[in-house]
Amino acid sequence: MWPEEAAAIQQAGRSLTELRAIGPFTASFMSRWLKDRPDVPAPPPLRDGFITYAYAREVIAAHPEWSGAAKADHQMHTDETDGSSTIDEMAEAARILGRERIAITDHSKTLRITNGMDEARLAAQGERIAAVNARGMVPRVLRSIEMDLTPEGAGDMDPAALSRLDLVLGAFHSKLRLRDDQTERYFRALANPDIQVLAHPRGRVYNFRAGLVCDWERVARRAIETGTALESTPIRTVRTSTSSVCA
Ligand SMILES: [Zn+2]
Repeated sequence: MWPEEAAAIQQAGRSLTELRAIGPFTASFMSRWLKDRPDVPAPPPLRDGFITYAYAREVIAAHPEWSGAAKADHQMHTDETDGSSTIDEMAEAARILGRERIAITDHSKTLRITNGMDEARLAAQGERIAAVNARGMVPRVLRSIEMDLTPEGAGDMDPAALSRLDLVLGAFHSKLRLRDDQTERYFRALANPDIQVLAHPRGRVYNFRAGLVCDWERVARRAIETGTALESTPIRTVRTSTSSVCA
């Protein structure tokens, strides 16, 4: 997560201690490794297929037109559940970034660890969003939710409450460490008529969780049939002899 590559800092004649959490002792090791590179083993599956923050910044800097191209953000949490900012603060941050539309997608009630919302809190939040929109500001704020889905694809909110929202995301938050093929589980989620977006489909977290495995092509085709959007997680498809897997 360093903003610059250590090698670039060293090349520029700067001290590696500029990097977060690096003191003189570690810096001296890194400096030696950069001059005389040891053999670096392939990353373990938990860390494979990711790029560094420094590299991501480089790519974005090389394409300045991209940052202005994003007009909306349809996945964000507020202090209502596990976010740290209010709706107003999120809207203001989005305005500065040039977004025309944002969706407030706080968690649903099953996800206790995030202080998930029940139907009454969802309705109250909807009134606060309406008040923000009544001021006529850009971005427009959509009423939404990130609803927890069981492995069977069922949601945990009253469909009547969901029907008053602009957008419904569904997401798996349990049994994310199963290693067998989960294609059928994705099919069940896509068959849920209440959701329009399957959020963070793979459930992968850097250096923490490898994510679910499925036949991604079949899942993507089914999503086209059901008209469900898949949140734009960077996906690398690895072909195997019988199927492709989410990697
Ligand atoms: Zn989630």
